[in-house]
Amino acid sequence: MTNKLGNLVLDRWVDGDGDGTLLSSAVTGEPVANITSTGLDFAEVLNHARTVGGANLRKLTFHERGEMLKALAKYLMEHKKEFYALSTETGATRGDSWVDIDGGISTLFVYSGKARREMPNDHVYLDGPPEVLSRDGTFIGQHIFTPKLGAAVHINAFNFPCWGMLEKLAPTLVAGVPAIVKPASSTAYLTELMVRRINASGILPEGALQLICGSVGDLFDHLNCQDTIAFTGSKGTAEFLQQHPRVIGESVAFTAETDSLNSSILGPDALPGTPEFDLYIKEVTREMTSKAGQKCTAIRRIIAPATIAGELVEALAKSLGEIRIGNPANKDIDMGALASQGQRDEVRDRVDELSHQADVVYGGSDDFEVIDADRDKGAFFMPTLLHCEKPLTSNTVHSVEAFGPVSTVLPYTSIDEAIELSRLGEGSLAGSIITNDDAVARELILGTAAYHGRMVVINRHCAAESTGHGSPLPHLIHGGPGRAGGGEEMGGIRGVKHYMQRTAIQGSPQTLTAIGSRWIRGADENDPGVHPFRKTFEQLEIGDTFVSETREITLEDIQHFAEFTGDTFYAHTDEEAAAKNPFFDGRVAHGYLIVSFAAGLFVDPDFGPVLANYGVDDLRFAQPVNYGDSLKVRLACKQKTLRAGTGYGEVRWDAEVTNQEGDTVAQYDVLTMVATDEQWASVQ
Ligand code: NAP
Repeated sequence: MTNKLGNLVLDRWVDGDGDGTLLSSAVTGEPVANITSTGLDFAEVLNHARTVGGANLRKLTFHERGEMLKALAKYLMEHKKEFYALSTETGATRGDSWVDIDGGISTLFVYSGKARREMPNDHVYLDGPPEVLSRDGTFIGQHIFTPKLGAAVHINAFNFPCWGMLEKLAPTLVAGVPAIVKPASSTAYLTELMVRRINASGILPEGALQLICGSVGDLFDHLNCQDTIAFTGSKGTAEFLQQHPRVIGESVAFTAETDSLNSSILGPDALPGTPEFDLYIKEVTREMTSKAGQKCTAIRRIIAPATIAGELVEALAKSLGEIRIGNPANKDIDMGALASQGQRDEVRDRVDELSHQADVVYGGSDDFEVIDADRDKGAFFMPTLLHCEKPLTSNTVHSVEAFGPVSTVLPYTSIDEAIELSRLGEGSLAGSIITNDDAVARELILGTAAYHGRMVVINRHCAAESTGHGSPLPHLIHGGPGRAGGGEEMGGIRGVKHYMQRTAIQGSPQTLTAIGSRWIRGADENDPGVHPFRKTFEQLEIGDTFVSETREITLEDIQHFAEFTGDTFYAHTDEEAAAKNPFFDGRVAHGYLIVSFAAGLFVDPDFGPVLANYGVDDLRFAQPVNYGDSLKVRLACKQKTLRAGTGYGEVRWDAEVTNQEGDTVAQYDVLTMVATDEQWASVQ
């Protein structure tokens, strides 16, 4: 018997009972592994995730979780040769494997960076500013995100055994939630290898990651309201799982990424001879053939001007004819095999179905050259192009997904018709528009965006750097409405929030400051005894406040500032003109003069732990300042973010500038970098 895939449960590698199912190479048809999860105690698996994994992860801050992902990504990079070697058995060429393996690892890197840059070094993520709920501001509201206290169950599709796991794992771990990964059986051997390496690295805390190779048994019967399911696969399976009584009864969060009949629209301007036409041919060819068309984002519907449909078909057929099909381990190959023989038969059936309403204009044959492999033993399939003459009245081309190198040309006669055809897909993950006419791009985007999760407009100006139609990116959301499952993944920190609970917290500014570790106006203003700029990062406390002396603004100050900076805008230099302005009674001080004077009022000038000011956030000038007004500043330490290993931390200060009446004239956050104890001691 071949090697039986392991299940990583309760931090141990366990074999399922019995022989399980045999998995074969997509290229040679030879056995690769057996898979079974029979006999596992799925209730225990969930319990271990919740009680051990969740508890361990929640001890870490968002930044520590980000550091963990970075360490993991680096570790996996060191082992990627093994992943590449095994990946060929799935039918993937080197380029396909790059998307899966390097693409997956880079998702870890991106999430690591985002967690450390965009989230606090804390356990609570604040969602927006506080909401003032009372007249005197003693009772306010703040939305916060905290990790769900359950497990994230990840059910993945067969086409991206590495990326499919890592794109879900990265945001889950940043959220502080443990994952139970169930890869699709046919390519689970590659996921298992990667999980073996992750486990061996010892980088993740106990219970953070478990792997089920095979069926999930009765796991769903033990789900509760703190668990999350993230599913990728077919619409039918998603619907079946979403209807599980436990999912319904416990309102278990369910994100689905399913089938998609993605379209790419060629603009009416992009006629043969234009760079956009050539780009379109390249893009469609690449989308049809990379990963042998087994991409949920691949272009399935080619929406093009009817006037050039013939030339388009001809150009695409020529381009597809140049694709070399065969053993993906051979570096001269452009397209490998489908993931399994079963998958090949499935695609063949779907092409038959499509051909009732569309003509096969290229491919669709079993008679094609396969290089360096046996066509009958491997799951090879010829790129196949169809043409549907009446796409508005043909429903098959908008509803049948052949999950392989298959696409259909759908001609349109007006922009409205192109929009209608695109919408007939009833919800897609990705859409693209190839045009050099920005007015057309806007019209098409406004007409179709609501049916898409992501859209890309490609033309000669961005093509060289474009990531293309079918590449989901960790920075951008991946998911789509309707047929695409209605889910959403990634999208930077948005993806982390899927695994957290948003809660509205109400209370006093002081209480909410303590909960969120961010100072809120109305909370205590501590007198630290010394100027807060004399304190190191560790010594500073949230709420440490400095109140400045006052300074009067004179007409000479305004004139001097205008001449010195060159900002001689009439409101600062022309009394009569300024008075005609509905907001002013006469000449007023420059906003930047107020901010500059404020800095002069609040800084402690001597050499100290404050290293630099790196900007301001949310600057607002609330009222005009006239000459003769007296200003003072209140500066409160608002938020501290340690930059581990750098010798400094970021400190955000709440600055409020008031006039002699006590009215706020300007408010903003001052952003500084402050030395740690160690760093400060080393430079004194
Ligand atoms: P599938 O049959 O729905 O399988 C998807 C996953 O669900 C696999 O891990 C599968 O495990 C699991 N599964 C199936 N039945 C289950 C059950 N009763 N309980 C728990 N898990 C169950 O999909 P597929 O045919 O393998 O994948 C191809 C489809 O996925 C295509 O339609 C494609 O469009 C879609 N897809 C979508 C995306 C996206 O991001 N939207 C990405 C890739 C693929 P087993 O393999 O063990 O059955």
